[in-house]
Amino acid sequence: MSLFPEELRLYYSRLFPYKEIWQFYADEKHREWSVTLSNDLFVRDLKFANETELKKYLLLKLPSKIDVGGFTHLRELVFDLDLTDYDDVRKGLCGCQEACMCSICWQMMVGGAKVLHEMLQMDFGYSQITWVFSGRRGLHCWVSDPSATALSFEARCAIIKYLTVDRKYLSHPVFERAYKILKPIFFKSIWPVLVKRDAKNQIVEMQEKNENVEFAKSVIFQYLYPRIDANVTKQLNHLLKIPFSFHPKTARLCLPISIERIDEFVPHNVPTLSQLCADLNVTDVMKRKYVRELEAAKLLLKK
Ligand SMILES: [Zn+2]
Repeated sequence: MSLFPEELRLYYSRLFPYKEIWQFYADEKHREWSVTLSNDLFVRDLKFANETELKKYLLLKLPSKIDVGGFTHLRELVFDLDLTDYDDVRKGLCGCQEACMCSICWQMMVGGAKVLHEMLQMDFGYSQITWVFSGRRGLHCWVSDPSATALSFEARCAIIKYLTVDRKYLSHPVFERAYKILKPIFFKSIWPVLVKRDAKNQIVEMQEKNENVEFAKSVIFQYLYPRIDANVTKQLNHLLKIPFSFHPKTARLCLPISIERIDEFVPHNVPTLSQLCADLNVTDVMKRKYVRELEAAKLLLKK
């Protein structure tokens, strides 16, 4: 999939949501921006004074990817969930590895996001939480509450430690709640595949022997408990792709998605740059499927 310059020009001149993106990143002129250009040239340490400057630069350079870092020792609390971190369990389940992804293993992202979202709301009291499809096989989560943005490196490390409690303490309250969220996902999407593959008799017995809840929990968590890329969360200057950028390999839009409707989200249906641009040729504005999807997604940027 390619990102053609003429399509990027159309996108940055007519579709990219400058106002919403600038507001989402707190009107912050000290923030680090970085872009990847068509020749794979990566430019870091860019600063923009306002939305107009950002627009001027994007139209001039037509980047294939846009990332942001932190600003003056502050940074949103961010999380990265990626299916490649689940390769050990994906292999024996649906056979997917690395960049490959299917509707079965996508449930690992759904389960991970639901558990993480609940923790961020219930345990930390955050409310400005935005979920964004990464454009290929994962999800990014941006927590923009001022108290989250102000967290130090040490505090972020402590959060990661809390979220990744050792699985041997299965009676921990964190796991009790996660189990309630993950159990239905497991039995709806993962379990039928395991049974079909007759993967492990132990797991088949698991449902019958209801008394063995601890074992059931450990299996369910192995498949669905969020596996967070700790470095992305800890580092204040870590760059992360912004919403409404594109994934350079798939050319798919990094679309903000609603956590309440994550069950209905189908990654393969997310528009590519070409589909968005072709949609602009549809004369009846109401029939522009992808453009309308993009318009609706702008409202999901929580700030
Ligand atoms: Zn799969």
